[in-house]
Amino acid sequence: MDKTIVRLRTKIRKAQEEINAFQEACPHPPQNVRYQHGANTGNWCSDEDSYWTDYYCGKCGKWWMEDGSTRVEGAFCVPYGDDLLPKEESK
Ligand SMILES: [Zn+2]
Repeated sequence: MDKTIVRLRTKIRKAQEEINAFQEACPHPPQNVRYQHGANTGNWCSDEDSYWTDYYCGKCGKWWMEDGSTRVEGAFCVPYGDDLLPKEESK
């Protein structure tokens, strides 16, 4: 492989490690957090119904998901059908 690619991939890996560390250290302040409830219901077998909550932190750019309907006090609850990602950040 060309050395240029090796060098660039090393840069990407290091940058990704920095992003991970930043997201790991981020307290995800409620005023920066958006969340949205999701559900998969009406299954023939109701044991297969599931509920979850998607989260997005606008400070560190992290996405994550939690099982069940959870919430963060002070965070913005995005209505079902709307984009979890704020419009100004989806570019
Ligand atoms: Zn965060």
